Amino acid sequence: MRQVIAGNWKMNGLTADAQALAQALRAGVEHAPTQAEVLVFPPYTQIATVARILAGSGVGWGGQDCHMAENGPHTGDISPDMLRDLGATHVILGHSERRRDHNELDETVREKTVEALRAGLIPIVCVGESEEQRAGSQQEDTVGWQIKGSLPDGFGGADGSGGLVAYEPVWAIGTGRVATVEDIAAMHAFVRGELVRQMGETAGRGIRILYGGSVNAANAASVLAVPEVAGALVGGASLKATDFLTIIAATTGLPAA
Ligand code: PEP
Repeated sequence: MRQVIAGNWKMNGLTADAQALAQALRAGVEHAPTQAEVLVFPPYTQIATVARILAGSGVGWGGQDCHMAENGPHTGDISPDMLRDLGATHVILGHSERRRDHNELDETVREKTVEALRAGLIPIVCVGESEEQRAGSQQEDTVGWQIKGSLPDGFGGADGSGGLVAYEPVWAIGTGRVATVEDIAAMHAFVRGELVRQMGETAGRGIRILYGGSVNAANAASVLAVPEVAGALVGGASLKATDFLTIIAATTGLPAA
């Protein structure tokens, strides 16, 4: 399985910015083809623009969230089918900023994951402990419960293509404080163990586990070389094409798990 580099643009970018970023990304991957699976997650308003530019480039795109219903009276929300309609293949669910800003609980994330899978989207479900939880040595309990509460039966599928998990310590997101390679290795090994325990041997071993939290052009190579790190979910550094392309170039090209 290939390593995954996923760029979460968050709430950034007007049309001209999205166009420039997508065009630079396309030019970059055409100039230096990669074995990695590359994905971008623009704001909803820019997905169609980005899709037009990236179509046929090998770079995929997805949504930063979606609703748990197929359609209906949910003002301001977006359904998984609407993302599919724009050619999206993936959706990020349970990002800590959604959990924080919209009070999303594990149960909400699980319902969204079920609906995303029904619509044919591949969910990237985010888990991770807060600074307080780590200070209290509760990172494993926290992440174990999040996995149990957020992932539905059947997640990951037999070949791992039915869902990915992103381990993102909240204190490392957007702070410039990347976790140490030892902490990343320990938590990824823990997440793998929980996935196997909760989903069974076949599904649990096949799910790719991404790391997220202040990955940048300078630290990507060391993060991506950690055992069990099958790629990175990148926020801030995905907004600069040169940095994002450097991160893509740092993928190992080795089997991810
Ligand atoms: C993220 O948004 O998932 C993220 C990891 O952000 P950053 O890379 O900016 O820490």
